[in-house]
Amino acid sequence: MAIPSPVEPCDFTVFGGTGDLALRKLLPALYLRDRDGQLPDGFRVIGVSRHTADDDAYRAMVRDALTQHVSSADLDEAAVARLLARLHHVELDVEDVGAWHLLHARLKEGAASEDVIRVFYLAVAPGLFGTICEHLDEVGLATERSRVVLEKPMGSDLATARRVNEAVGRVFEESNIFRIDHYLGKESVQNLLVTRFANTFLEPLWNSHWVDHVQITAAESLGVGERGSYYDRSGALRDMVQNHLLQLLCLVAMEPPTYVDRETVRDEKLKVLQALRPMTPELVDRDVVAGQYAAGLCDGAPAKAYVDEVGQPSDTETFVALRTEVQNWRWAGVPFYLRTGKRLPERVSEIVVVFKEPPHAMFPHSEGPTEPNRLHIRVQPDEGMRLHMTAKEPGPGGIRLRPVSLDLSYAAAFGARSPDAYERLLMDVVRGNPTLFMRRDEVEAAWAWVAPILDRWSQPTHRPRRYPAGTNGPVAAATLLERDGRSWQETE
Ligand code: NAP
Repeated sequence: MAIPSPVEPCDFTVFGGTGDLALRKLLPALYLRDRDGQLPDGFRVIGVSRHTADDDAYRAMVRDALTQHVSSADLDEAAVARLLARLHHVELDVEDVGAWHLLHARLKEGAASEDVIRVFYLAVAPGLFGTICEHLDEVGLATERSRVVLEKPMGSDLATARRVNEAVGRVFEESNIFRIDHYLGKESVQNLLVTRFANTFLEPLWNSHWVDHVQITAAESLGVGERGSYYDRSGALRDMVQNHLLQLLCLVAMEPPTYVDRETVRDEKLKVLQALRPMTPELVDRDVVAGQYAAGLCDGAPAKAYVDEVGQPSDTETFVALRTEVQNWRWAGVPFYLRTGKRLPERVSEIVVVFKEPPHAMFPHSEGPTEPNRLHIRVQPDEGMRLHMTAKEPGPGGIRLRPVSLDLSYAAAFGARSPDAYERLLMDVVRGNPTLFMRRDEVEAAWAWVAPILDRWSQPTHRPRRYPAGTNGPVAAATLLERDGRSWQETE
């Protein structure tokens, strides 16, 4: 695999540097980029938290985390030592105004240059985003060369998202705000753009004349586990649909941008969000299904009900299936079915584009089924693509039709480790390339679209439908497609 060129020196500050996200995802991603030679001398990583830890204690904590979260094949002692030497810890309660000079002093001392790039990654609760930005500004750390990275959740509805955006926007220019949706950093998701726009064969078919419908699924077999208290306030609509699923839908449905740069892709995604059929209370009742897992069997073991995992009665949905349409010239009348849930039979994220039947049946006397062509784009795990088609079974005599598939497995085709989404995204932040990050207007358009669903579900009569853990969600999710004469493509 070609190694991308090194980024510029940077002070990469992680607020919440001792938290789960930092230790499980961000530091392993920085380690892997460092191991591959992408971090130059003078690149420092500064963890900030209230934890009492000096640099050595923090380095020990990160060493443990790397051992746990990086595969042993990718661990290299020299590379680990190189990353650890870049690490510092600043003990700071971000709400303590009087303590911010500590961070300021630490960043000034030993920086690669006066105008070194500064990244501030906010891996803390969103309630702290505004406070942190305000203090960064007060101590003079928010400069034109500073970038701020926001993690989901970006608000819990349109009003709170606007408040977060306004608080951060008072300090940072939009071009220096990087809102992460890690799905956009996945290789297969970026490859979707390349497959669509660097090849000619799909684009003429990629419209309502030839596409029957599109399915987007993000399924997990795990339950809420440790995240119960966060999840119970969020639910699947906010946690998955408003961001990841709508972003995938945008990439499938968007028009070809003139070229790929910081704004054109985001402009086209925004147009898709604006073209989504607005939800009305009647459409919510008819086209959106909420579910919550009950006890069942998952991965061969008994699984508790959601309410038992969170330890309280709850009407939070752990499953959503919905039908929508993109109301524009290209997609008029083509349903897009979205589905996400926890405690489903397996962990898989996939986009399936189902094409229409051939317009004329040329082999009426043949044996065997004809099935419409389907393109499966596997986002995770085992990233790749599979095109289902019909072929003639070899042999003399009559014509026997058989479904076959053309397979592209990333692992087999490129023989290299598929980098984690965060590896790509963190380097894009340092380079100042926001193409794969969500712009403020996109986030707000997505919240505006889900708002009628949230409104309808806030009625006291709303209850998610129960489904046994380990199944494909409530029966109503299957009915949503059966009603249209279709069915979900379960994984093969
Ligand atoms: P976490 O494990 O609870 O970590 C929170 C971090 O913030 C800790 O390092 C904590 O350290 C620090 N912190 C809390 N209050 C602070 C304060 N007043 N001043 C300075 N530091 C403070 O949470 P997490 O799972 O890493 O998640 C962080 C954020 O990312 C959350 O908003 C979460 O929703 C989001 N997120 C997480 C994941 C994930 O995979 N974990 C994925 C997507 C989004 P001290 O308590 O020692 O100060």
